[in-house]
Amino acid sequence: MGASEGPKCDFCGSANPKVPLIASPLKPAHICLECVQYLHEAAKASRRGLRLRHWKMPQTSPAEIKAYLDDYVVGQESAKRKLAIAVYNHYRRIAALLANPDQPPPVRVEKSNILLIGPTGTGKTLLARTIAQLLEVPFAIADATTLTEAGYVGEDVENVLVRLLQAADYEVEYAQIGIVYIDEIDKIARKSENPSLTRDVGGEGVQQALLKLLEGTVANVPPKGGRKHPEQSFIQVNTENILFICGGAFEGLDKIVARRLSRQVVGFRRSGTLEERPESLYAYVQPEDLRKFGFIPEFIGRLPVIAAMEPLNEEALYRILTEPRNALVRQYQTLLSWDGIQLDFTEEALRVLARAALEIGTGARALRSLLETILEDLLFTRPKGAHFVITEDFVQQRLRPLRAAG
Ligand code: ADP
Repeated sequence: MGASEGPKCDFCGSANPKVPLIASPLKPAHICLECVQYLHEAAKASRRGLRLRHWKMPQTSPAEIKAYLDDYVVGQESAKRKLAIAVYNHYRRIAALLANPDQPPPVRVEKSNILLIGPTGTGKTLLARTIAQLLEVPFAIADATTLTEAGYVGEDVENVLVRLLQAADYEVEYAQIGIVYIDEIDKIARKSENPSLTRDVGGEGVQQALLKLLEGTVANVPPKGGRKHPEQSFIQVNTENILFICGGAFEGLDKIVARRLSRQVVGFRRSGTLEERPESLYAYVQPEDLRKFGFIPEFIGRLPVIAAMEPLNEEALYRILTEPRNALVRQYQTLLSWDGIQLDFTEEALRVLARAALEIGTGARALRSLLETILEDLLFTRPKGAHFVITEDFVQQRLRPLRAAG
């Protein structure tokens, strides 16, 4: 057989010996790697816009959104309610725009980004992620502490959109109806209430830059992230329909609220609310408190829905161990069941765990590391066919070294 009669690509006809050929497992046919790559791109292009076209707002109501959240997030009743309303309105507005793309609605309904205020590990990220899961929209998490104003060391704010694009497989239209959760938003507060004369690289400048994304702009996003440079090509992303959920612990904000309340409401202190439940003060946060905390009014104006997260008490932590659909205890039970191991906990053992987590003070985050510590031997040895019941004594014994260290 001469070289010219050797196998060639049946798709493009090329017999370039430098390009590898792949044989069909079913027929005497070949395709070259270049064609495979071309088809891969073509397939991606034909899918482009498909997900957006197929996206439908779930037939739901704010009450149903709240009920869905209840399956995953323990407590946080007030935050879930507010979030459900805001998210419903947001996607109702998008559904209307998608239904009539050529006819703008008679009244321009502005979007309502959301601010979640509350201690770490109380479910802020979980709420945002669960909402995105329900609506089947792309979701990305960004960290405000890594952001700086353009031209300074750190990430440009547009980088928060890079992850969203990735989550949408670079389908820009689909990314444009996604949800971005920006964590640690409290860390970009201005350090003092008065605008400083020196530049505040991580504070006000970032607020200004983020403000544009929050209110809606066409942002130039470097496809792979990193710093912008002039020769780079950008993907343009319109943020008008992207829902931003910002979250932070806002330590010290309670004092600002308390000061205002004790000024405004005579007897607020005497009523005992402050002493008994200082955490409840976050429920009274007003835009002016956020301004005192170090946010510029325009930025606060773009976060019209403010929801307070409650610190998790022992009962909530106990429920988090077993109740949510992806509860930690269920996760470990499933993991071990794959090795034929049955795992159970006595109620008292779980209570001790919840109490220990409360002492650590990082909300529900502590539960996972505690479980990991307690179950370490079991997770390491994996004795097939065994049945373990984790008791209070067992937990206490495993926690002793931790307590001694702490
Ligand atoms: P935050 O964003 O408030 O710091 P996360 O949402 O990241 O906290 O929560 C940390 C971990 O604790 C997650 O694994 C989450 O599943 C769990 N968790 C936190 N709060 C709750 C809650 N209210 N209900 C159920 N799980 C929770």
